[in-house]
Amino acid sequence: MAPLLARRALLATVLGSAGRRRHPRHHAPAAARPSSGAGGEAEAEGPSRATAMLRHLLLKLRATGPVTVAEYMREALTNPGQGYYTRRGGIGESGDFITSPEISQVFGELIGLWCISEWIATGKPQAFQLVELGPGRGTLTDDMLRVFNQLPSVLSKCDVSVHLVEVSPKLSEIQALTLTGGKVQSNPEDKSAYMKGISKTGLPIFWYRDIQDVPPGYSFYLAHEFFDALPIHKFQRTEKGWREVLVDIDPEVPDQLRFVLSPSSTPATENFIQPEETRDHVEVCPEAGVIVQRLACRIEKDGGAALVADYGHDGTKTDTFRGFRNHKLHDVLTAPGTADLTADVDFSYLRKMTQGRTATLGPIKQREFLKNMGIDLRLQVLLQNSGDTATHEQLLHSYDMLMNPKKMGDCFHFFALLPHHRLVRPDKKHKPESKSPLLPVAGFAELLLQ
Ligand code: SAH
Repeated sequence: MAPLLARRALLATVLGSAGRRRHPRHHAPAAARPSSGAGGEAEAEGPSRATAMLRHLLLKLRATGPVTVAEYMREALTNPGQGYYTRRGGIGESGDFITSPEISQVFGELIGLWCISEWIATGKPQAFQLVELGPGRGTLTDDMLRVFNQLPSVLSKCDVSVHLVEVSPKLSEIQALTLTGGKVQSNPEDKSAYMKGISKTGLPIFWYRDIQDVPPGYSFYLAHEFFDALPIHKFQRTEKGWREVLVDIDPEVPDQLRFVLSPSSTPATENFIQPEETRDHVEVCPEAGVIVQRLACRIEKDGGAALVADYGHDGTKTDTFRGFRNHKLHDVLTAPGTADLTADVDFSYLRKMTQGRTATLGPIKQREFLKNMGIDLRLQVLLQNSGDTATHEQLLHSYDMLMNPKKMGDCFHFFALLPHHRLVRPDKKHKPESKSPLLPVAGFAELLLQ
């Protein structure tokens, strides 16, 4: 089938399917970050956890002096013993923050459709890897795999495998339960993975701690609310030049942390601030830069694409470091380890860190991306097939959460890395009259009217 026809058929199958998650959400989802919702877990386990992590940090600060915000964030989120994601990872209505895949099944379905659409547009390679960075509860991948399963005739000859990059033992357990029903093998001998299993739909799934451990090959890399969880450095312009913001013990209040400025420049101020910088406060996430470099190298060499979805800006914002606990804003220096810490993603930095190895698309607002992917049609089909008022209301409420400009529609963005040849034919320069235009990339252009 011609790629365009194949894409139309695909669209009709996925958007028109009556399929609902096996575990439909009956409760209207809590609001996304930030909001005034409430949950119970953090209160129950808060104080002792806070003490353990805070004690650990106080010992460290007394021994070696102030630490960078990046070091503080890394400890608070992913310390192997006490980190927020390691021990708690409170994603969902009963946790600290809710994410789009948890709000609506349609989100993951449309991203599944995006991957298949790109796979078709690049000539249906014989195999592809679905690689998710920071999969949370595994819901996004689960919804995507359901879409793949609905397309047996399209994918029958394609060898699909799933690769999850996750540092949190607690969340990887939840992912295993969501995706395989809990039937997994730890430390398999044949792989660099720390766990493996078979999805409910029959696909092999592997877990890794680092993107470098994922085997090379044509892959779709997904990062939903992943980059915002990576440690940032914070800088402030002073009369004496750029200084790094550090975390120290407050000498006035026992066991309390405070921000201080480095007395002189640090290696980070030398390396991460651009000479042409005009802002007075800047946040930089070098770990995100390294991961994007790795993704760009892989996509340049083996093909595929990366789709990043997160809240963020294009190099304009200054102070976005914040904490969330029980769906409320939480002071970043209070009770570390009990709250999610996050900073907006700087898409201009990610673009720069591809070093021209791939083309980039976006950032484009979530509501535009999902509209281009056909969310309205999908909603109509689900509404027509929903028998009860509660489901009806839940579908409309979750659509509003994802699409409303005042909720998640405008502040979340989609950004893609694609091989250059996906956007410009290599021979275009020499044969500008060349027919057969390249297919537009779904989501970044309207899928339905192509
Ligand atoms: N994508 C999910 C979860 C977002 S929360 C969703 O949208 O619902 C961030 C996720 O990234 C968690 O799964 C967390 O454990 C994981 N994570 C955080 N830092 C990480 C790191 N350095 N390497 C791998 N995973 C990480």
